[in-house]
Amino acid sequence: MLVIGSGPSGRRAAVQSAKLGRSVLVVDRGRRLGGVSVHTGTIPSKTLRETVLNLSGWRERGFYGRGYRVKQDISVGDLIERLHKTLDHEVEVLQHQFMRNTVRSARAAVKFLGPNRASLTTDAGDYSEVGFAHALIAVGTRPHRPRDVPFDKTRVFDSDEMLELERLPRTLTVIGGGVIGVEYATIFSALDVPVTLVEPRNTILDFVDREIVDDFIHQMRDRGMTIRLGSAIQEIASKPDYAEVTLADGRTIRSEMVLYAAGRTGNVGALGLDVVGIEADSRGRIKVDPQTFRTSAPNIYAAGDVIGFPSLASTSMEQGRVAACHAFGEPLPPPPQTFPYGIYAVPEISTVGQSEEQVRESGGAYEVGVARFRETSRGHIMGVNTGFLKLLFSIETRRLLGAHIVGEGATELIHIGQAVINLGGTVDFFVNNTFNYPTLAEAYKIAGLDAWNRMGRG
Ligand SMILES: Cc1cc2nc3c(=O)[nH]c(=O)nc-3n(C[C@H](O)[C@H](O)[C@H](O)COP(=O)(O)OP(=O)(O)OC[C@H]3O[C@@H](n4cnc5c(N)ncnc54)[C@H](O)[C@@H]3O)c2cc1C
Repeated sequence: MLVIGSGPSGRRAAVQSAKLGRSVLVVDRGRRLGGVSVHTGTIPSKTLRETVLNLSGWRERGFYGRGYRVKQDISVGDLIERLHKTLDHEVEVLQHQFMRNTVRSARAAVKFLGPNRASLTTDAGDYSEVGFAHALIAVGTRPHRPRDVPFDKTRVFDSDEMLELERLPRTLTVIGGGVIGVEYATIFSALDVPVTLVEPRNTILDFVDREIVDDFIHQMRDRGMTIRLGSAIQEIASKPDYAEVTLADGRTIRSEMVLYAAGRTGNVGALGLDVVGIEADSRGRIKVDPQTFRTSAPNIYAAGDVIGFPSLASTSMEQGRVAACHAFGEPLPPPPQTFPYGIYAVPEISTVGQSEEQVRESGGAYEVGVARFRETSRGHIMGVNTGFLKLLFSIETRRLLGAHIVGEGATELIHIGQAVINLGGTVDFFVNNTFNYPTLAEAYKIAGLDAWNRMGRG
């Protein structure tokens, strides 16, 4: 198995192939193993978030007020220190995992030469060739950088470059209301940086239940963030003292820095896909069979961000494992009904199953149960005064159809909803089971009872 790329999908496919007794080579052109996930994406942004929440005292502000701080002057140095320690540890764990499983790795750029052969070229220009029975394209994506955006790492940055900031911005404009944009916008806002979030469409996070997004937008505005929806970007200019964003509706936004986070492009350019008869779309995404992750070339698979939605580290890992199992004839059960989506903004959002809009569209009768975190004893203890859980149940089958959370701990709590949905559980599970007390998870019990009170025994 030749694995091209050492991000989550490549890593999981490599280890799975090795566990099935195959010989595996992982090739990554990056300086260190780990991919976007470890070096510029998931882990750095989540470490940054954790550091900001700790040093700013964000989680305690519900109790001690908005003026509460753990550290007064938080510098880039404070943020970077923890970042490097975490990343070093991640790489070390990955290297050890490869070593234990006898997965070999090399640093080079890979290019297909034929259906069973590829070339490896190092930065220094050293050239070699390898043969393979199966290959996995796990090359991921890079930030989309339109030509008319003046990226200069002084005023205008992409999401990779945000990790190289030399100082914190005094004011920041974030362009793009997708997951990456809202995560960075709210993380900097938690540092008391005035932030403007710009999204040309009329909504943000449009795959998430509307009620959750509305509450999230309310929370962002409530703490002073400016949100500009529904107007295209006409121009982004980098001036000596500031950056200026001009919107099509004539408004301008000045800030010290701009983060452009509107989309990503697949790293397929130099792979020689034409040699093996694989096509990519205009955003560099490869089409695969959704059950097996096989491309149009029978022995070549693709997984991770290079195949498009949902573009998560979590789903990428699973895709890599499934691809490896399929390549080596290992039987797999049918894929689970749903997977969770975690957005590590401040506050967190997490969602699994159908949104209320989707349930409504499907036409079946349903009931909603809601629990606000401030109604739980754990919420009182923690000083949590925002956030809620929303559960959607089918009236006919009583089954849980969707769970949606905005607020503290959302990305952890969501797994209860995921388990109940995928195991076919009903509203009665929440009513009849005891939950630890005091916990935020108790919100499931409260929301279950809320729906049950209207649904009755059925
Ligand atoms: C800012 C940010 C925050 C994110 N936060 C989250 C999150 O909280 N949770 C979550 O689940 N996901 C998150 N993601 C998404 C997550 O990082 C990606 O889904 C995941 O990294 C995709 O994994 P992958 O397997 O496609 O490989 P990637 O991690 O994209 O790595 C691809 C690797 O392939 C290598 N490569 C490319 N071309 C070649 C070539 N020709 N030859 C050799 N090597 C090559 C690259 O050097 C790279 O190391 C985030 C992403 C970003 C950018």
